[in-house]
Amino acid sequence: MSEVLAEDFRGEPYWWEMSPRAGRPAAPPPLPARADVAIVGAGYAGLAAALVLARAGRGVLVLDAGPPGGGASSRSVGMTGGRLRQGAAALTKALGPGPALALMREAAGAYRWFLDFVRAEAIDCDLRQSGRLVGAWTRRDLEAQRRLAAMLTERIGIDCHVVDRAGLRPEIASDLYHGALVLPQDGGLHPARLHDGLLQRALAAGATVAAFTPVTALAEESGEVRVLTPAGAVTAREVVLATNAYTGPAFPWHHRRVIPVGSYMAATEPLSPTRVARLLPAGRLVNDTRRLAYAIRISPDGTRLLVGGRASARDHARPPQVARSLHRVLAGVFPELAAARMSHAWGGMVAFTFDRLPNIGTRGRVHHVLGCNGSGVVMSTYLGTMLGRRIAGAADAVTGFARDGLPGAPLYGGRPWFMSPVSLWYGLRDRADRMIDAARPSPPRGASTP
Ligand SMILES: Cc1cc2nc3c(=O)[nH]c(=O)nc-3n(C[C@H](O)[C@H](O)[C@H](O)COP(=O)(O)OP(=O)(O)OC[C@H]3O[C@@H](n4cnc5c(N)ncnc54)[C@H](O)[C@@H]3O)c2cc1C
Repeated sequence: MSEVLAEDFRGEPYWWEMSPRAGRPAAPPPLPARADVAIVGAGYAGLAAALVLARAGRGVLVLDAGPPGGGASSRSVGMTGGRLRQGAAALTKALGPGPALALMREAAGAYRWFLDFVRAEAIDCDLRQSGRLVGAWTRRDLEAQRRLAAMLTERIGIDCHVVDRAGLRPEIASDLYHGALVLPQDGGLHPARLHDGLLQRALAAGATVAAFTPVTALAEESGEVRVLTPAGAVTAREVVLATNAYTGPAFPWHHRRVIPVGSYMAATEPLSPTRVARLLPAGRLVNDTRRLAYAIRISPDGTRLLVGGRASARDHARPPQVARSLHRVLAGVFPELAAARMSHAWGGMVAFTFDRLPNIGTRGRVHHVLGCNGSGVVMSTYLGTMLGRRIAGAADAVTGFARDGLPGAPLYGGRPWFMSPVSLWYGLRDRADRMIDAARPSPPRGASTP
């Protein structure tokens, strides 16, 4: 074993140390013959919909192919915020200025809703608004961040500011970035504990959760849906697909519209809390502007650093390879961690859509909430709740993310063969951008960027 890996290295999420998946409902319960609503997928989206519908008095059955939360929902970095993954310029180009602004404002509102929701439900998930730092990979990125900060503050109402290289010192003990966008209201949580809280509340509201029960097909007949599983069939009035990146060929229409992409994480061995606090004095979570996005954060107990990103151009990379790759990323930001060892590494799948936007919608009696586009802690919970409220008939459950259709692409059948070359290309572009930027002449001392 390489020295990057700790003696007790484990190829599963660090989060499961505090919140083991083995403790979830294990054996599938006997399936009821009927349910008002059958929900496929027991991640944040499925459970949020289940909670609303069970509280509205519906008979809710949630089915998951594995343990609840075994998908992305107990594997993430746990970053929270109110911005869409799709950039403002691309969104405006695709939708026009009015609808783009409305979606960005709704995403910011979804975050405010989420903070209130976690507090109102008293979900103990280490949620802290310690802020986010988005490091500028190039000087050009820093200039773009200044424009972005003005737009976010003035038009979306998101509190943020930009710091230059000198202003980074109180934020991060690293020389890698040219400056950063600071979003003080963003934060982080323990993703598996958020999932635990949602699961407990959905069960308490009366939902039934059938783990290890894969749905193999849906058949609409006589105004109802037959939900087929190896443990038998259930007849439901309505079905919710909350399968996100794990949407398989059992749901062919949706399968062809979701792009599953492997995303990875690793955790260091315990470090001294003083050292951790010296590396990230403000306790912020860190992203940067690279095309291949990475994230670094402090563990909720303050003793480790966690790092996430596309550790391999391939999906389903092996944990030791993930640990080595993400260790290089971490040491690139904090060279003094070159000798630190990694205790955990793992992966999960995130779902991209062809328009890079989350989507809720309905076809016949089958509803879906899909396409977190890599940022689903807030969005999947919010849109699962929205979808549940819409099914329950809430007139005010209006959302711009319920758009007609879910775009597909010619020749795409659900297997993203293009992701490996795209990842490699992005990595090359990131390196090239940095070199080109370094070759650009520096602005004269004292000159301000627009
Ligand atoms: C490494 C990593 C880091 C991330 N970091 C962040 C972050 O910092 N911030 C952020 O906002 N988001 C992040 N995300 C994304 C976030 O975790 C997801 O967007 C979110 O968890 C999606 O929740 P979900 O309920 O939609 O889907 P999931 O949690 O993936 O749940 C889908 C479920 O559907 C089930 N399923 C699929 N098919 C079937 C079937 N046929 N029958 C029964 N069940 C089925 C699966 O078993 C799975 O449990 C990250 C994800 C990963 C993997």
